[in-house]
Amino acid sequence: MKLKSLLAAATAAASALVFASVTAAQTYPTKPVTIVVPFAAGGPTDTVTRLVAQNMSKTLGQTVIVENVGGAGGNLGNEKVAKAAPDGYTLLLMHIGISTSATLYRNLRYNAMTDLEPIGLVTTVPMTLIAKKDFPPNNMKELVDYVKANKAKVSYANAGVGAASHLCGMLFMSTIQTDLLTVPYKGTGPAMNDLLGGQVDFMCDQTTNTTSQIKGGKVKVYGVTSKARVASLPDVPTMAEAGFKDFEVGIWHGMWAPKGTPKPVLDKLVAALNTALNDAEIAKRFGDLGTAPEAADRRGPEVLRAHLKSEIEKWRPIIQKAGVYAD
Ligand code: ASP
Repeated sequence: MKLKSLLAAATAAASALVFASVTAAQTYPTKPVTIVVPFAAGGPTDTVTRLVAQNMSKTLGQTVIVENVGGAGGNLGNEKVAKAAPDGYTLLLMHIGISTSATLYRNLRYNAMTDLEPIGLVTTVPMTLIAKKDFPPNNMKELVDYVKANKAKVSYANAGVGAASHLCGMLFMSTIQTDLLTVPYKGTGPAMNDLLGGQVDFMCDQTTNTTSQIKGGKVKVYGVTSKARVASLPDVPTMAEAGFKDFEVGIWHGMWAPKGTPKPVLDKLVAALNTALNDAEIAKRFGDLGTAPEAADRRGPEVLRAHLKSEIEKWRPIIQKAGVYAD
């Protein structure tokens, strides 16, 4: 083939490709959309995601599937989405751990800032310090005395390095200056099962996973990590009220798509997430679980992009100072 006709063929193929992807973006979605939750089913991130997914499915007119990819404190799921096709059919719902993992993990195989496209913040969830029902201490002071006196036998559950339960546990241990035995799970869903079964002693987990167990009297609770008490758990003291002044932790959650997802597809996802967060039923369900949809002025891709960047920068020196790393 002559050079001229070769060039013409290449140009035609390229414009056919562009045309196909523009059309695909305009008609999106034409098949089910998957949201990856990087933790086991039945846990707090799973619960939040399933509520949002149901509503987004109505707006998008397609099934929205939740896929649980637990392990490595959420990083296996994060990586899966970072490397997925950028077509809007594989999304990620992850929390604060994506910012701490950027420093905690030495060999991360994705970059949260450059491999993912932000869709928006979803919710910011308080945590609760809870224990198995027959754990002897009855309040925070007793808890601290007890774990210090029994540190060789007390076990603390978390969802792996970088999980919210891991961060909260580290904060607890550094506050009381005592190292405890940690038991990692693929999510706090299975960790909660073991706590209820008495195989582990205590953990710090989000209200989205602990509220019903606390209300049902199935676990002991020592404090909630929000500034003010949570309306759905009015009897639970804040950590400050329980004697821990600087123990305020909010687990922010965001939604992302792989980098390179076409703008028209992203726009549809941003709008669908927004519709879900405006939904009265979701606000009610979130409220019952001790949280709330992200405020309207904190929605959208640009807020999440800036938030992730500032969170990575905020946690980097703290983690470096603590010298805790994972591979
Ligand atoms: N969000 C995790 C989960 O859904 C738990 C955690 O981060 O501690 O299991």
